[in-house]
Amino acid sequence: MTKYVFVTGGVVSGLGKGITASSIALLLKSRGIKVFMQKFDPYINVDPGTMNPIQHGEVFVTQDGYETDLDLGHYERFIDEELNYSSNITSGKIFSSVIEKERKGEYLGATVQMIPHVTNEIKNKIIEAGVSSKADIVITEIGGTVGDIEAQSFLESIRQMQYEHGKENVFLVHTTLVPFIYGSEELKSKPTQNGVRDLRGLGIMPNALVLRAPFKTPDAMKQKIASFCLVPVENVIDSIDVKNIYQIPINYYEQGIDEVILKQFKMEYKKADLKEWKKLIDIVDGLKETVEISLVGKYIELHDAYISVTEALKHAGYKYNVRVNINWVDSEDLEKNDVDLKSVFKNSKGILVPGGFGTRGTDGKMKAIEYARVNNIPFLGICLGMQLAMIEFAKNVCGLEDVSSVEFDATCKNPLIDLMADQKYVLNLGGTLRLGNYECKLEKNTIASKLYGQDSILERHRHRYEFNNKYRSLLEENGIVFSGINVASNLVEIVEYPKNKFFVACQFHPEFKSRPMRPHPLFDGFVKSCVEK
Ligand code: GLN
Repeated sequence: MTKYVFVTGGVVSGLGKGITASSIALLLKSRGIKVFMQKFDPYINVDPGTMNPIQHGEVFVTQDGYETDLDLGHYERFIDEELNYSSNITSGKIFSSVIEKERKGEYLGATVQMIPHVTNEIKNKIIEAGVSSKADIVITEIGGTVGDIEAQSFLESIRQMQYEHGKENVFLVHTTLVPFIYGSEELKSKPTQNGVRDLRGLGIMPNALVLRAPFKTPDAMKQKIASFCLVPVENVIDSIDVKNIYQIPINYYEQGIDEVILKQFKMEYKKADLKEWKKLIDIVDGLKETVEISLVGKYIELHDAYISVTEALKHAGYKYNVRVNINWVDSEDLEKNDVDLKSVFKNSKGILVPGGFGTRGTDGKMKAIEYARVNNIPFLGICLGMQLAMIEFAKNVCGLEDVSSVEFDATCKNPLIDLMADQKYVLNLGGTLRLGNYECKLEKNTIASKLYGQDSILERHRHRYEFNNKYRSLLEENGIVFSGINVASNLVEIVEYPKNKFFVACQFHPEFKSRPMRPHPLFDGFVKSCVEK
């Protein structure tokens, strides 16, 4: 029977609950336990797909085509497994299905209420995830902070699960803040006590506490927190600030959180195998050389908007023993007349233009692409980055006039990036992009096929517009190679310009499939050419 671990947060948001949940999952997996992970987000949006990345950060896409919270990216990178639609549930998703059932008459005349109808729907999503994944343990992180109005129904569902399934099947990890007060120079336990009192006020008992603090909380204070919060002191775990997030699972392992959980669950387990993970930490801690890469985007004030991209760059860096430093370039700044591109990219060994939506900043991105192309600087374009690279090329190399994407200019004479027939009559914005895995065939003897080392790949998508095949031959005549094609719908997936050292762009999002010890082939090739002397 599946068992359940919940991860909640108190006091403030941003305590790193996602990393805590991922670390626990990694440790359990290393002991031979099959895990599945979920994130519950209390907001009313059905998914984060329509949210501004500056508010919410990156939208992570699962292989089965769901637009999800960026924490799923951490989960996949830590446990190295592909998650799916049941991994991210929002209040909006829960309410929509409750309302749909009500309209169909499925509640047989009942007054539909938060308890039991909404909470049953939530509990079903947790239980179903266990059944469909066949996991021994499902780890569910609850977004937001205890006390948020939106999170109440999720917390109430946990309370019911604790009661219905018992201590041997449900374990609750509560992450909390132990702030350091400058001046009096001490750590303070009161916010944690108050936070746990709020949790207990909801009828929920934590089984373990994770104390986020700048350094280790003294034993006497831990003892005080343990007795106030009715948690055994050995279940009170330090989560100190670290330079390298991959260190966190090891810090937790040394404090035995995985064993605490497995013992309470009365489960059998083997010795943890963390060899690979420790190797990764040694690599990261041992990096001496650095390489600067420019990331040209319009959401750069929130670095989380590009978290999978920057992680993927770092992963490739580990392979080549370099720390990748990002030069964050605001694409709109490049549109100013007096901008000196040479000084913007002075120290950068490569330029990356990631995905994006809407017209704002696209001219600046094209300036960056042109700069990379003309100066033979390694370039990687992702999704919008590929579309803009092709527009730049069509305009400046092929001499095509009035060329654009219909996303920015619906009436342009040369719609190089166009809507496919199946997108023309789509009215809803949410969930209607081309999403998730699609197969792509690689042309022999291309950079892409050499990097992947295979002739067919599966990559995740999130876009509405496509390269317009009408212009393929014109670009080919001018030196572009279309190296990846979706054969079923004859769509361009990867382009390259072999005249340059490395000029590759793709319509899909390779960043979602990169792993710390297994960089994505395109990032691998890109970073390799950035570090080559
Ligand atoms: N806006 C473009 C499209 O919808 C690109 C999307 C993206 O970069 N993810 O096709």
